[in-house]
Formats: sequence, C-alpha cells, structure tokens
Amino acid sequence: MTDILTDHPVAAAVADGTLPGRVWLYSNYNCNLACSYCLTESSPRSPRRQLEAATMLSVAEQAAELGFTGLGVTGGEPFLLPWLPETVRAMAAHLPVVLLTNGTLFEGDRIDRALVLADHDVALQISLDSHRPDLNDLARGEDNFAKVVAAVPRLVAGGVTVRIATTTAGPLDDPGLDPLRRLVTSLGVAPDDHLVRPIVRRGRADLEDLGVEAEARDIPSELTITADGAFWGSFGPTVRSGRLDTDLLLTRTVLPLSVPAQALLGVVSGMPPGNDTNLGIR
Ligand code: SF4
Repeated sequence: MTDILTDHPVAAAVADGTLPGRVWLYSNYNCNLACSYCLTESSPRSPRRQLEAATMLSVAEQAAELGFTGLGVTGGEPFLLPWLPETVRAMAAHLPVVLLTNGTLFEGDRIDRALVLADHDVALQISLDSHRPDLNDLARGEDNFAKVVAAVPRLVAGGVTVRIATTTAGPLDDPGLDPLRRLVTSLGVAPDDHLVRPIVRRGRADLEDLGVEAEARDIPSELTITADGAFWGSFGPTVRSGRLDTDLLLTRTVLPLSVPAQALLGVVSGMPPGNDTNLGIR
C-alpha cells in the first residue's frame, strides 16, 4: 500500500473534491478501427505516439502518492501494445484501473491477453453502440458488433470485470436504447456497469459535424497524461485534421506527476462549475 503525501496541496485538493480522483493515460494513438466519431482520429495508419511502460508505471505510483484514487487507460487501442496487459496489472497494484478497449482483438486464444487481468483491480470498458449490428458497425466498422458480443461473455466467464460504454448522437434517456440495455445484461454485464454518454464535438466528430459542443469547464477536469504532455480532461488531447488540439494542454512535463497535477490545480481553483453533469460527459 502506497503512503499518501497528505500535506501535498494536490492530495488535499483530491481529498476535498477540488480535483477529480482519476488520472487518465493515453497509452497510444493508433487503432485497428477508424470510428466516425473518434476523438483522436485514430486508425491503423495513425502514428503510435505511445507512452512507455515505465512512464505508465511511474504515473500510477506517483498518482497514488499524491492521493489520486483511480486510473484510466485509453488510446487508440491499448491492446495493440504487446506489453500492455502486464503493465496495467502492475499499475493496479497502486490504484484501481479502468482500461478502455474496442474489444475486437480477443478472438480465439488472443483472449488470454485480457484474462491475465482477472482477479486484479482492473475493469475493461468495451464500446458497443447499438443492439443492431448494422447500426453499430456503421460507425465502428465491419464485424465490430459480432466480435464484441462474442468476447464479452468469455471475458465475464474468465473472471474479468467488464463495463460497456455506449456513445450516442441521440438523447441519453432514449427508449430506443432499451433493447441495447437488455442485450448488455444478457452478456453478463450489470446494468450499473453500462455507461451511456454523448459524442463530444472534438476530433473527427467535429469534422463529421457530430456531437455536443463542450467548453473546457464542461469537460471533467481529470488529469490526462499523453506522450505529448498533460491535458485537462480525457477529452483534451484530441486530434483534428491530423493535428493535436492543444487548447487543453496544461504542460509538456508529465513527470514528476506533481508538476502537471499542480498545473491542473492552478487552473481548476476558482473556476465555476461546468455543465458536464447535465451533458452526461464522462
Ligand atoms: S473510437 Fe476508439 S475504437 Fe474507434 S477508432 Fe477511436 S480509438 Fe479506435
């Protein structure tokens, strides 16, 4: 168990809720898919721009020391990195981890790469946008639905904690999502582990004229670490027309983690609350 630096201003800010408890890491930017609303314009042709495993472990260790309460790992598609599962497992020794994946790389024996996360403090968050294969695959790519629906029960049976994330262009309480909610439950995922959130109009979604407009203060101010620096929020380090958005860049320094954490604290302190809760951005 890590000792928390209780007299550090960041630890105090996390403890009193001024700073959100989760730190996000963009492990890489390349992806085997190329979804129409992708915030990072990821695709198989994207530059990898990866964090090194040692950096991710240091972030996890220092986040725990600074009093943060959880970690999130996203991409790109994290499972394209060969060393990713073992690294995430080691990070979970410091703090609970939510690991985002498109869930399409677990066919056959390849599911073993995810099963190493069973019985560790890691939840896999897998994307699924519709109960209709045609509609789901329209945005996310051919055979996406079939691969996800096949993988989730195998992961659950293998002892992996699975959450489903649905990204929608419609209202979050749309009754049209009810068949999807039933499908998710039938796959072995608890209703509380099914997140429905809006498309945020950044990255490729902006070019495609999709999603809700969000100012900085509407985006949860979770510290987010990438190979290019530290950002305000996991919706901060987006890519548009091949260029990294830097409007939410805090600092190019990512370690020691106290540097970007204090930069974020300086920006957050005194800022009026945003509209992220009403918009359902998470
Ligand atoms: S939304 Fe996710 S799965 Fe789709 S292209 Fe972007 S990173 Fe890949």
